Amino acid sequence: MNNNNNDFTRISRNIKELGSLLSKKIDEKQIPTVFSRNTEIHSSFFHCIGEALSKDEEAAQKIVAQWAEKIIQIITHSGGQVHSSFFLGHLYKKAIIDCIEEDIIHHPIPSNHLIGMIKKVDALIYYASTFFTTHSQKLLENDLNNFNQDTLEKRITLQELKDLKKALNEATILAITDKNDNITYANDKFCQITKYPLPELIGKNHRDLLNSGFHDKAFLDDILIAIREGRVWKGEIRNKAKDGSYFWVDTTIVPFLNNNGETYQHISIQHDITEQKEAQDMLYKTEKLAMVGELAAGIAHEIRNPLTTIRGFIQILDHFSEENKYLYSKTILDEIDRINFIISEFMVFAKPHASYFCECNIIEIIKKVHNLLSPEAFLKNIDISLNISQNDIFIYGEKNQLTQVFLNMIKNSIEALPNGGDIEISIITKDNQVVISIKDNGIGMTLEQIEKLGEPFYTTKDTGNGLGLMVSYKIIEKHKGKINVESAPFKGTTFHINFPFLNKSE
Ligand code: ADP
Ligand code: MG
Repeated sequence: MNNNNNDFTRISRNIKELGSLLSKKIDEKQIPTVFSRNTEIHSSFFHCIGEALSKDEEAAQKIVAQWAEKIIQIITHSGGQVHSSFFLGHLYKKAIIDCIEEDIIHHPIPSNHLIGMIKKVDALIYYASTFFTTHSQKLLENDLNNFNQDTLEKRITLQELKDLKKALNEATILAITDKNDNITYANDKFCQITKYPLPELIGKNHRDLLNSGFHDKAFLDDILIAIREGRVWKGEIRNKAKDGSYFWVDTTIVPFLNNNGETYQHISIQHDITEQKEAQDMLYKTEKLAMVGELAAGIAHEIRNPLTTIRGFIQILDHFSEENKYLYSKTILDEIDRINFIISEFMVFAKPHASYFCECNIIEIIKKVHNLLSPEAFLKNIDISLNISQNDIFIYGEKNQLTQVFLNMIKNSIEALPNGGDIEISIITKDNQVVISIKDNGIGMTLEQIEKLGEPFYTTKDTGNGLGLMVSYKIIEKHKGKINVESAPFKGTTFHINFPFLNKSE
């Protein structure tokens, strides 16, 4: 046993002493690993094995473990990655066996000692190598984990993006536009509302294509500036569809910026609010109508009382002064009667209950109005033509009020023709509706003017009062009718009035 110990101690010392020499031999082989050229590391291993070889198994393993951990630490700290092939076990083993071989030439040892020693060297080298394999395996696992986590995250993001796109497509009218405002993408809903098929949208200028002419330049410029500056813009826009109809969209424009901070495209996310807008407009008009109704009733009441007094007073005056009788009384009485008449007429519109509905022949009413206005039109070099193919069409309504509507409208047409022209009145029936169209080739109106029609006191005339259409709208509404206006400046105006007509056979 002692001999054995001596052998181990001697060989251990040899290995330790020859360490740097052995290391150089390994370096000469130029194995391409992180520390294959690091002589210090190699010689430290030989030193470690030399130490361990003379110790018992437990202590020997401890020494090898310390060495391996230290080396792994050095590699990791220097930013390298530990790989199992970094540990040149086979080269170390060969070098140590060479060293033992050299020794036993001079100091023959029993074969069992030799085998025991080689076994020990082999076991320790294997033990050292396990540190490198375990460590590199751990790294590999981490890498794999990270990789999986990474791809998982990417997969979620892609899925989320897909879901978001789907939700946006389902819920909104969507278009993507490049930096020149040319459409690069539009979803089905966008095609539906604009009534343009997709190929007719792509590459077209968003604004030019859908411009309804409703918004002024400042409004449109504001959108442009927001996009250019990369700000989100929100607002309500009136657009024009392919068939010329208008629609309102609640719009959010989101600009996208490139690395230089320039907008390279923007997305328009829109919702159809046409119906809300119409309802809102209706409410707005109805409110105003109600207001005027109250106003008129109030005014009439205020004026009627003093008028009655004045009339009575003038009647008495009649008896006192013979001279003034013809000079004043008649004129004043006529004037007062006229004022009273006007107020009474106005009350028809202000008080809804002051009228009663029955069957009335709309053809007869139009013909009567035509007769009434023809002399005035003739004097102004205006030709009013009637385009009626039927003798009678009945609607349920109030004759005087309907007369008032057509008087107002045809008078407006006459006033829109200061230099003469043509007015064409036509009546057609369509489905359950009778459509009366009054068309003139007069001064026409801008979009802003059309928008204002029906507002009380809206007039562009020096002598106008701006109540004619307001009253007409209210009457038409009461008759469950609808009114549409087409107009263009200097081209002319057409009013279409629809009423449900009565089927006489019912
Ligand atoms: P008024 O005739 O007293 O001005 P209305 O309510 O009848 O009031 O009409 C309001 C305004 O609508 C007019 O002042 C005019 O500007 C416009 N308008 C109505 N009808 C026509 C028409 N046929 N052509 C051009 N403008 C019209
Ligand atoms: Mg008028």
